[in-house]
Amino acid sequence: MVRAKPYHDGEDLLPMCYRCSTYNPLMTSAANCCTNCRQPFVHSFVSFEILPLVEFQLEPGISDEDAMRLIEAPAPVTTEDPGWSQSAGDNFEALRLDEQISDPFTARLLSLQSEDEEEFVPVIVNRPTLQAMDPGSVLVCQQPPPLGYQFYRNLLPDLQITLCPSCNKIFHVDDFEMQVLQKGHCPFCRSESNTFKDMSED
Ligand SMILES: [Zn+2]
Ligand SMILES: [Zn+2]
Repeated sequence: MVRAKPYHDGEDLLPMCYRCSTYNPLMTSAANCCTNCRQPFVHSFVSFEILPLVEFQLEPGISDEDAMRLIEAPAPVTTEDPGWSQSAGDNFEALRLDEQISDPFTARLLSLQSEDEEEFVPVIVNRPTLQAMDPGSVLVCQQPPPLGYQFYRNLLPDLQITLCPSCNKIFHVDDFEMQVLQKGHCPFCRSESNTFKDMSED
């Protein structure tokens, strides 16, 4: 259903949901979330562009600290079924498919797409999924209690995203550094740049 969308001029300009790849109309009545899967959009607080982040939640029983440890732990060596190499020629297609969903988080997103729910279903991850994540592709807002941590997966890790250590607002790294250099403070909370490491002004 989602994949079979007709081509429209200017589709590139429409906001795309990074969770389900649906192009959203520019003016959506649903408050700032995808019209298809209802995943909230995450905007840069400088450009207000939609960032390629999908928030996820932890399976019950995993604490914020556990999750941080698992994300930072090296991904376990995957013990692939050795059968594929014997018939690599025949199974090329199958192998390629395996590769595409070798990331458990992406596999989770795909499985959620087929569920076709009316209500918003958060992406919930388990321990192996956390452990398989590259720490560089995860953004964590460490909010004081009772808010707790908010976890985001960056689906385009080449696009570097950061958050202000003071207000936890999210930005493209380039935007944030530019603003801090030009103005000397965070564009949102105006925390002085000398509170940010590696960005001292002189
Ligand atoms: Zn969506
Ligand atoms: Zn800030």
